[in-house]
Amino acid sequence: MFTDLSLDPRLLRSVQHLGFDKPTEIQREAIPAVMVGRDLIVSSQTGSGKTLAYLLPMMQRLLKSRPLSKRDARALILAPTRELAKQVYAQLRLFVANTPLTSALIVGGENFNDQEKLLKREPDIVVATPGRFADHLEHKSVFINGLEVLILDEADRMLDLGFMPQLSMINKAADHRLRQTLLFSATLDHAEVSELALTLLKNPYRVAVGTSYQQHQDIRQRFYMADNLSHKEALLSHFLQQEAINQVIIFTATRSDAERLPALCETLGLTAVSLSGQLSQVARNSVMQAFSAGKYQVLVTTDLASRGLDLLQVSHVLNFDLPKHEEEYIHRIGRTGRAGHKGDAISLVGPKDAPALQRIEALLRTPVEFSQIAGLEAKKDIRQLAVVKTKTAVKKKAPANSITAKSPKKPVKTKPAFFEGGDDGLAPVRRKK
Ligand code: AMP
Repeated sequence: MFTDLSLDPRLLRSVQHLGFDKPTEIQREAIPAVMVGRDLIVSSQTGSGKTLAYLLPMMQRLLKSRPLSKRDARALILAPTRELAKQVYAQLRLFVANTPLTSALIVGGENFNDQEKLLKREPDIVVATPGRFADHLEHKSVFINGLEVLILDEADRMLDLGFMPQLSMINKAADHRLRQTLLFSATLDHAEVSELALTLLKNPYRVAVGTSYQQHQDIRQRFYMADNLSHKEALLSHFLQQEAINQVIIFTATRSDAERLPALCETLGLTAVSLSGQLSQVARNSVMQAFSAGKYQVLVTTDLASRGLDLLQVSHVLNFDLPKHEEEYIHRIGRTGRAGHKGDAISLVGPKDAPALQRIEALLRTPVEFSQIAGLEAKKDIRQLAVVKTKTAVKKKAPANSITAKSPKKPVKTKPAFFEGGDDGLAPVRRKK
């Protein structure tokens, strides 16, 4: 029970107000460790309740201790995307409202001067995206010399987005022994995350609740082979008509598909909208607000919406294309099946998705099983295509002096040539060692 965690009564009241009695597993593990002052490194399944796992003990510390400096921010929460930062901020506001603590949201794409004004008011807690926060540090519109708690939410994603320099800068600006640091990442099996953890954390307490490759119990995952784009569209139309859809997020590989598919959904009588990276921040916000308010049944997007967003009405995730990075698959399907709701994840796998399928299977540590819809079966077997391609690719491309050519008896692990990108039509995949 939350009442067993010795939380400040003001925080407890907010938790009760939200209707939560029992902490989730990650909250049970993380909250006491942070409350005794430990640094923390957490790998957690999406939807596990990680936000409260850091918000509650962070606020507890701020409420119980005196600020190290009046001017400086006391806690900083960094998130990879504006959407996630906003969502964290919305949860934070519920808790801050009951306390004397103040907070601010500082994300890219919004007016810099307005943010400077907000920061002049010396908020205790700042939720930010790393790029924009680093800009403010450089402009000296914010100081974190006395920062008490630094929280990195979805650290792996921040690193994938190239924020290492900003994270290092922020770390240096708040480098003192009283700082507590909490690092959350969907996967800890990521070289840069380990490197970051070594730089940032002191003797951290490790929490691993589930692992990124574990199947999510509340999500039914189904895979369907598709021969080509029009076959994918036929399958999409079928699912949009036959499934009991409350809200669905459709993920596409290309912006042009993300922009084109809402029209197809509308011909089937569904309200649909596209969230594209090309939209201005204001337009993105209003799309997300409209979707979470239930004004649209379908949101079509590239990977923008795949992380962290808490949309409880999303009954289905439909991968029109598989994601290039296998971990993204876990995050995409985690947009449904949130907080105990059941969800459905449907993935369409065409010839171009074959390399991504192999990587997802490696991540899930099991081959996926394909289902079929009568009348919409694929003519070609994606797996057979992959095998044929592998054979021809190795034959053609192995240079004369390669190990494969010289000693064919030795089992050599060769990746299919299309793994490198090129004939699958996708950009080369950045592989981490
Ligand atoms: P998160 O993993 O932080 O994105 O949380 C996923 C969802 O679980 C959110 O809708 C939270 O509001 C909800 N949640 C967080 N903690 C609890 C809890 N102890 N009991 C029930 N739901 C929770």
